[in-house]
Amino acid sequence: MEEPSRSPANTPPQASGPTRPVLIAGGGFGGLYTALALASQRHHPPILLVEPQQRFLFLPLLYELLSEELRGWEVAPRYDTLLASRGVAWLQDRISRIDASAGCVYTEQGRQLAYSRLVIATGSRGTSYGIPGVEELAIPFRSLADVEHLQELVQHLRSHPRPLQRLALVGAGPSGVELACKLADLLQGSTVIELIEQGTDLLPQARAFNREQARSALLRRDIRLRTHTRVLALEPGRLELSLTAGGEGSSRETLPVYGVIWTAGVTVAPPPIEPAASLDDRGRLLCESTLELKQTPGVFAIGDVAHVADADGAPLAATAQVAFQQADCLAENLLRSLEGESLQPFRWKDLGEMISLGIGEASLTGLGLTLAGPAAYRIRQLTYLSRLPGLPHQLRVAAGWLSDLGRPLNVPRCGSP
Ligand SMILES: Cc1cc2nc3c(=O)[nH]c(=O)nc-3n(C[C@H](O)[C@H](O)[C@H](O)COP(=O)(O)OP(=O)(O)OC[C@H]3O[C@@H](n4cnc5c(N)ncnc54)[C@H](O)[C@@H]3O)c2cc1C
Repeated sequence: MEEPSRSPANTPPQASGPTRPVLIAGGGFGGLYTALALASQRHHPPILLVEPQQRFLFLPLLYELLSEELRGWEVAPRYDTLLASRGVAWLQDRISRIDASAGCVYTEQGRQLAYSRLVIATGSRGTSYGIPGVEELAIPFRSLADVEHLQELVQHLRSHPRPLQRLALVGAGPSGVELACKLADLLQGSTVIELIEQGTDLLPQARAFNREQARSALLRRDIRLRTHTRVLALEPGRLELSLTAGGEGSSRETLPVYGVIWTAGVTVAPPPIEPAASLDDRGRLLCESTLELKQTPGVFAIGDVAHVADADGAPLAATAQVAFQQADCLAENLLRSLEGESLQPFRWKDLGEMISLGIGEASLTGLGLTLAGPAAYRIRQLTYLSRLPGLPHQLRVAAGWLSDLGRPLNVPRCGSP
């Protein structure tokens, strides 16, 4: 791997006046954890986090919020509470464009903000791939509003059961599988659940153990997995599908559905940058191993929006685990960059893989453990407890969990009729 260094040709613009902060665009896993890591340094620069939402969302625990195994304030703490007395200023706004040669950003609310160093951490969002009807009719699963929408749907389906009422989830990646299992437990047999996947199998990137655990979790819940099946269009009350089996021609099918949940695919769209930054074929910002943008000194990217190559040259996965690990390296490099020192390359360490498989169940592989069932569920929760943002929030959540000890795990509280 190349040893990164500073040279006159890649020196950031001299924008580091005393009042110019390190500006972080986006307060998700990459942005918030970078801000907290930087603020924990003894002599840190002023830090400004620009994030439009009021609450940070710990996305890997969104399923537990849906099932009410966890509470809203635990999974989605407010930024003003998280950042109180932490040395990070938070501005509730959205970056609309970046002028890297002038060292400033423009926001949706009409502000112009100068920075000494900029971190782009604007994440990813779902995509409909332009399939007719998906944008308008399918339910996504990425936000608090989506969780509330699904909770209302579960309540309705449980309290007005009709023969053969059906929900379809599209995409058998981790989100689709985890959500299908939680929904099946919440719906308690009142609704047929179909998991639709255009590829050849569920969880194509997962470890074999987790994939097999997921397969049997789906079977135990009577969730039908349809592979080799592509969504052509969504219309009110029905899905148009194209089925291909073993590479032989395709056939079409119309599937009556009460609702469709879309977890298939993500896309990225960083704010426009002048001069234009280098992007990969999926729109991600091409970064050096130091997380600094190629050809845009002084501007860094992290998380889903960043294309950072692993040791084999392939882009690192878009996961919270990657963004979480990058944050410490980036905080260190921001300080080094401000001091004019050489930057450190980011080194990814695979800590394993955990997947939630219904209420009170999970499967995990990594760090010498291969485990499924309620014990894996507890370990997953404890692991995430240690990753929640900031010690004060971790302690508040831990106190809540201790007071919950003894509450049975397998009783869904959501939508009880
Ligand atoms: C339901 C779900 C479950 C997941 N489960 C797991 C899991 O179990 N394990 C795992 O490793 N990964 C998981 N992921 C993936 C993981 O959450 C992402 O990889 C991670 O959140 C990426 O962090 P990020 O900082 O790049 O983006 P995000 O965490 O998405 O944060 C981006 C932030 O930027 C803000 N923003 C967007 N545009 C702008 C703008 N123009 N200006 C200012 N702010 C902006 C957004 O409001 C958001 O807060 C899951 C994702 C989802 C959707």
